[in-house]
Amino acid sequence: MYDVVVIGGGAAGMMAAGWAAKNGSKVLLVEKMEKLGRKVRISGKGRCNITNSCTPEEFVERLRTGHEFFRPAFKAFNNRSAVRFFERMGVRTIEEQGGRIFPKSGNAWDVADALMYWCRDNEVEIQLNTKVIGIQTAAGRVYGVEYENKRGFRRRVETRNVIIATGGVTYPLTGSTGDGYDFADRAGHTIVPLRPSLVPLVPDVKDIDVLVGLKLKNVSVDLMVGGKCAATEFGEMSFSARGVEGAVVLRLSRDAVDALCDDKKVALKIDLKPALTPETIKARIERERGDLPRDAYFGDLLRRLAPPQLVMYIAGWLGIPTTTYLSKISDKQVTLLIDTLKCLVIPIADFRPMSEAIVTAGGVSTDEVDPESMQSRKVKGLYFAGEVLDLDGNTGGFNLQIAFSTGYLAGQLKN
Ligand SMILES: Cc1cc2nc3c(=O)[nH]c(=O)nc-3n(C[C@H](O)[C@H](O)[C@H](O)COP(=O)(O)OP(=O)(O)OC[C@H]3O[C@@H](n4cnc5c(N)ncnc54)[C@H](O)[C@@H]3O)c2cc1C
Repeated sequence: MYDVVVIGGGAAGMMAAGWAAKNGSKVLLVEKMEKLGRKVRISGKGRCNITNSCTPEEFVERLRTGHEFFRPAFKAFNNRSAVRFFERMGVRTIEEQGGRIFPKSGNAWDVADALMYWCRDNEVEIQLNTKVIGIQTAAGRVYGVEYENKRGFRRRVETRNVIIATGGVTYPLTGSTGDGYDFADRAGHTIVPLRPSLVPLVPDVKDIDVLVGLKLKNVSVDLMVGGKCAATEFGEMSFSARGVEGAVVLRLSRDAVDALCDDKKVALKIDLKPALTPETIKARIERERGDLPRDAYFGDLLRRLAPPQLVMYIAGWLGIPTTTYLSKISDKQVTLLIDTLKCLVIPIADFRPMSEAIVTAGGVSTDEVDPESMQSRKVKGLYFAGEVLDLDGNTGGFNLQIAFSTGYLAGQLKN
């Protein structure tokens, strides 16, 4: 008999299990993979962006949904609590641009291990390689959990409380395959339809392959939906075999996915020189033209204004061969070039599949969960924490903080 069974040993589950045990509960943490916290270990490109130092108001604003729902959890365990928690667990932290907080070691494993030790120190019983296959309920309350080990042996344990912390459905090799939605559905909960969030976008451009590997820094990108600017982001973006990605694109992808699902026309408008006005660019072009030899080509000028991989693309877009003599370029063509540098349009056809998204949008409806405790309003003793909920945030440490805050609150349950 356990006081609490936590399903899923990710960021939210480990946080919840450790706190529940520290508060005096007998806790079993069941994880289907061979290791705890596999997603945390690959997060932030292996560096783990733990949280963000922004103000509480800014923090809540960076969520897509559930702003009001998240407030009590964030108040109970906010970004400063997260930093204190990890520092106490021996993980020194460092703040980087945009308020993003990382372990000083630059190693996401330190964060996952700290959460694992948090569970061990508080005597959480941990069962690895074990998959929960069902939650038993009767008369509107939880009474047990059924699980199966790798060899297919099944077992039932009694418990008064279950915390579902099974994550979303992205990067399924880390173990998050959506089992929690099934458990919640069977318990009578509404599942808000799932969509990928923070996901690469697929451009609708012929010969985009020439741009693979291109990284653009300090660009300003407008997300155009139906011809209107829906959002603007500044920073880095890159082109890969998957499409367009990087922090700017991932942030814009949340609205882009919604627009594409609604069959709206979507494009990215890139300002390659956001710090320069058209007049300054014109002056620069005149200067470069003066510097270049008389028999220079248009391509020679372009190479001085844009990254090499973009030269052919811009020339193609303008319909001016790179081998055109610079002396033959008209004022009108110079104006078109300036327009292109200020506004390079990449039409978007699609987004990459859910498995490649950083986070799952949608999930267990927060209308049916008490924000003060994370307990189900439908089944007593059933709790939710982390990405399984219909809560998702922007890049910058917001999603792990959602897992930590909701995990902490779920771990405060009373027996
Ligand atoms: C590549 C990548 C990079 C990211 N980087 C960042 C970042 O730097 N900063 C940030 O804030 N966010 C980042 N995120 C998002 C963040 O990692 C997740 O939002 C967060 O880990 C969610 O935590 P969770 O505990 O809810 O779910 P998960 O971490 O997915 O944990 C769920 C756990 O439940 C287990 N499980 C599932 N079903 C069962 C079952 N039936 N029985 C037993 N166990 C089960 C899974 O094996 C898994 O271990 C990143 C995500 C990805 C994919």
